[in-house]
Amino acid sequence: MIVVMNPGATEAQLEHVKKRLEEWGFGTHFSKGVERTVIGVIGPKKAGILESLEAMAGGDKVIPVLQPFKLASREFKNERTQVKVEDVVFGGSKIVIIAGPCAVESEEQMFETARMVKKAGASMLRGGAFKPRTSPYAFQGLEETGLRILADVRREVGIPFVTEVVNPREVDLVAQYADMLQIGARNMQNFTLLKEVGKTDKPVLLKRGLAATIEEWLMAAEYILSEGNYRVVLCERGIRTYETSTRNTLDLSAIPSIQRLSHLPVLADPSHGTGKRYLVASLSKAAVAAGADGLLIEVHPNPETALSDGPQSLNFTEFETLISQIGPVANAVGREI
Ligand code: PEP
Ligand code: MN
Repeated sequence: MIVVMNPGATEAQLEHVKKRLEEWGFGTHFSKGVERTVIGVIGPKKAGILESLEAMAGGDKVIPVLQPFKLASREFKNERTQVKVEDVVFGGSKIVIIAGPCAVESEEQMFETARMVKKAGASMLRGGAFKPRTSPYAFQGLEETGLRILADVRREVGIPFVTEVVNPREVDLVAQYADMLQIGARNMQNFTLLKEVGKTDKPVLLKRGLAATIEEWLMAAEYILSEGNYRVVLCERGIRTYETSTRNTLDLSAIPSIQRLSHLPVLADPSHGTGKRYLVASLSKAAVAAGADGLLIEVHPNPETALSDGPQSLNFTEFETLISQIGPVANAVGREI
């Protein structure tokens, strides 16, 4: 439930409500707005609590949150959240473009890609150093060497980066280097991992699980938020369906659905969503038209030789063309790039 405090509620009154809630065994999350403070109250329902809370000095009204996800819900916070990563704002009027290869393969590959995608209009770089591959025989990533390359590129080229963390034990290591932590589709319900990233102060890019419902996805976000990390950005990356002509089925309806249910920003990843280079531009435009707050696009200097996800990666020319097509679509829906 949510306790909405009176505009004039004092610090002492807020403290008192917090203390009582804690005595009753609830977790509390304060959201201090310009006018009023709203307290998110987390815990199982208890008889008589609503009435007691409403009678407390400084309190205005108590609203039960009906959704199973609480902190992620629009009921808890109606205005859309903006997540900042350095100068990049997710959930603002600007469509955020994150681009880069599936995996960090070499210093040269990352420098070349970073310079190019930045010039073309991307505001963040991506690249996996720890790769969660379906096959144990496939390239698993350069691990810490990959993180060092990403950090060098950030310093030289001036572009923040997001990279995946696959193991709760490596969260601190990845967080030492990365500007944003990615939780991949395969780990969306790795609750230990979600709690660990929730304890960091790094923004998190949470991808939708391969077969996750929207509710399960928002419950995964709730795990991160409930640990005190409110900087969560969601990413629709396609779900498993009976269709085999594409790698996954990019669920564009998830974008406005999420925005109705949650205040968190939501991106689309048409690269993993389709698995096909020739589909990436169309689905990028469609995602922006559907209201996506940004795009995650795999770009490689030479997709043919990529160590992972080559068939869905764009080369530099294709990426430039895509960016030039996104602007008019963004403008048509009241956004810009
Ligand atoms: C990736 O972003 O490279 C990746 C592995 O994505 P997903 O977890 O969506 O498959
Ligand atoms: Mn990939």
